[in-house]
Amino acid sequence: MELLTELTEKALRREPLTREEALAVLATPDEEVLDVVAAGHRVRRHYFGNRVKVNYLVNLKSGLCPEDCTYCSQRVGSAAEILKYSWLKPDAAVAAASAGIERGAKRVCLVGSGRGPSDRDVRRVAETISELKRTYPDVEVCACFGLLSDGQAGQLKEAGADAYNHNLNTADSHYADICSTHEYADRVDTVRQAKQAGLSPCSGLIAGMGETDEELVDVLFALRELDVDSVPVNFLIPIEGTPLDQRWSLTPQRCLRILAMVRLVFPDVEVRIAGGREIHLRSLQPMALYLANSLFLGDYLTSEGQDGDLDVRMIEDLGFVVEGAGEPTLPEHRRDLVKVRKRGAGTDLPANA
Ligand code: SF4
Repeated sequence: MELLTELTEKALRREPLTREEALAVLATPDEEVLDVVAAGHRVRRHYFGNRVKVNYLVNLKSGLCPEDCTYCSQRVGSAAEILKYSWLKPDAAVAAASAGIERGAKRVCLVGSGRGPSDRDVRRVAETISELKRTYPDVEVCACFGLLSDGQAGQLKEAGADAYNHNLNTADSHYADICSTHEYADRVDTVRQAKQAGLSPCSGLIAGMGETDEELVDVLFALRELDVDSVPVNFLIPIEGTPLDQRWSLTPQRCLRILAMVRLVFPDVEVRIAGGREIHLRSLQPMALYLANSLFLGDYLTSEGQDGDLDVRMIEDLGFVVEGAGEPTLPEHRRDLVKVRKRGAGTDLPANA
């Protein structure tokens, strides 16, 4: 496969793939899926070795959201029989996080449903973040509370958050089909705000929502433009009671091609297999780790994942190792790209001029 060799070499040199090249990866036939995985794996191994970063989700507030994202079981009017509860107290959140940390999670993702946090919510989660950091100083904390208003990203950073997650989910051109209560541009703005505040930007997509190949490439290229540090790749979980509950369009091979394309577009960025990996990749699930260098352990926000034991065993069976708390995830050239300004206007220090 001359094309795949060419794209692998390009990715190893960190040369950006073109739209046509990304589309060509998606267009490869099922019988060539092993070649596609091998191409992406060369890049994954080059930048991330045999390490797998384990992340753990804690849903601090579940359900009861006024927004109408069609893929989401927590949306307004959702008939999905999910757990519904308001903000967990800091001690309950830390207890929930400890289950994942003890299995090797180096990042805890604290999530809360809703359009975006009120200032009171931010104060509340700031307490939880501080408590988690006091208990587990080495653990990375990623906050995920929806659209941010001015100043909130800075408050989360001050409380000790390391990263902020807000997924673009799908292309601008497809966004109105999946949500009517906020816009794609709102999401882009939040990713930018997080980054400006010095939080590591984490933003990804959901595949399988009726998007075209072009739209998948669009959202990926928009994420590349935002220069995110981590890209969670979700495969739609068609939860009963949501508008997309009959949308089963993905095959294991298609999921692998998507992951390979993401890896080749983001050679040195954390690529995480997220929701839906078990039900869509099925028995091919371990192959996804030849492409992604990161996963969520255990359960998702409102649905159950496979047993944490199986996740750990899958990593070991592949000959991979769980990345340690002290080990940096990103290759050296990508670290510390975002530095919060601490000089010039508003400080006593001279400006950089
Ligand atoms: S994705 Fe977020 S904003 Fe959209 S309905 Fe679900 S919880 Fe609400």
